[in-house]
Amino acid sequence: MSTSSTGADRPVAVVTGASSGIGAATARRLATDGFRVVCAARRADRVEALAAELDGVAVTCDVTVPADVERLVQAAGDRVAVLVNNAGGALGLEPVAAADVEKWRRMYDTNVLGTLQVTKALLPALVADGEGVVVNVGSVAGLVAYEGGGGYTVAKHGVHVMTETLRLELVDQPVRITLVAPGMVHTEEFSLTRFDGDRERADKVYEGVPGPLVAEDVADAVAWVATRPAHVNVDLLVIKPRAQAAPHKVHRVPS
Ligand code: NAP
Repeated sequence: MSTSSTGADRPVAVVTGASSGIGAATARRLATDGFRVVCAARRADRVEALAAELDGVAVTCDVTVPADVERLVQAAGDRVAVLVNNAGGALGLEPVAAADVEKWRRMYDTNVLGTLQVTKALLPALVADGEGVVVNVGSVAGLVAYEGGGGYTVAKHGVHVMTETLRLELVDQPVRITLVAPGMVHTEEFSLTRFDGDRERADKVYEGVPGPLVAEDVADAVAWVATRPAHVNVDLLVIKPRAQAAPHKVHRVPS
């Protein structure tokens, strides 16, 4: 990997969901590590500001829209060293018996089909790189179920299994496939989105937790995975705060 911080010779890293939280922190970290970062998300103003800051490239892209994904491919070019499929998130916390089917559909579309479409479209460029890495941002919700996890646990299990399947299918190709599965990360928007803008409910998720992860912790894990030697495939990296032993088992200090 080139460590030059300017010029077109920098290896290319594509980060989806780069407009906030883990995606933005990962874009910043990969730029610091010497990559030319292609920052993709639906909010144009945010990805444009970030790309300007990082001397990278902004693509306004909804990962569920094929024409947007095609523009992302054009912007990324013929060789892609790193693809971070981070766009996604959770909607609601209803039990399965009270599931909102439309929310489930949106979660499946973004987390699973978005990851699928972007990966499929960029695979030729990742293989052409000769040392490419796909890092899918899953979740501990993709490893174990929890009550109320509903469509989110289903979607992240989908991302998990897709990652495993792809690694099996591409074993003879020069490309690596990783799942980074974070536990509780205190980002600005994840829980706000989950609870449809309800700030009080969103804040309660992190209440009393002595040290949830922050976006930079996950970015650090992604960057580590992405910068191993070309023969090293990190299959699965689970990263949780010390205070979280399982999705549903969180230590909280009463206030
Ligand atoms: P976040 O701040 O809400 O970030 C989600 C990102 O995805 C945003 O940049 C959003 O940008 C983008 N996005 C959503 N739908 C999209 C679409 N259709 N097309 C393109 N981009 C889309 O949350 P976060 O905490 O950083 O989460 C990032 C990833 O980590 C998600 O996959 C999430 O499931 C996973 N994760 C989070 C946690 C946690 O506790 N926070 C734990 C485990 C895993 P736009 O709205 O601008 O498109």
